[in-house]
Amino acid sequence: MKCPHCQTEVDEHEANRCLDAWVAEAVMGWQIRNNPDIPSIVEYWDGTLLTGLKYEYWREPPYFSDDIAAAWEVVEKLNDAGYTVDIRNDRVAWSVVFMLDEDKKYTADWKASLFLQICRAALKAAGGE
Ligand SMILES: [Zn+2]
Repeated sequence: MKCPHCQTEVDEHEANRCLDAWVAEAVMGWQIRNNPDIPSIVEYWDGTLLTGLKYEYWREPPYFSDDIAAAWEVVEKLNDAGYTVDIRNDRVAWSVVFMLDEDKKYTADWKASLFLQICRAALKAAGGE
């Protein structure tokens, strides 16, 4: 399974804005567009309207691969979709598994960044690979 932006394999993709964009689209279901005024700027929208305001808030995707609050939104999204999550640490690295049932287990094995492994396992779950 390869990144639609840079064609890097999911298990080799580094934590960066390209991965954040991939997670926003493929896992979180955010919509994408080019800014109407500056087409070179790509913007994302999570589909909700700002509280008290009736407009769409297009922005850059959150730092899913580099920020625990944003990465946790990914965990909760999959939790809400029925996945159990198994996060392990062996003192130097992290392993993340999202599981629907025994046949549908999506693993990102043992790397230093928990946030990166959450993103990689979530992309596998969203892609069914
Ligand atoms: Zn990429």
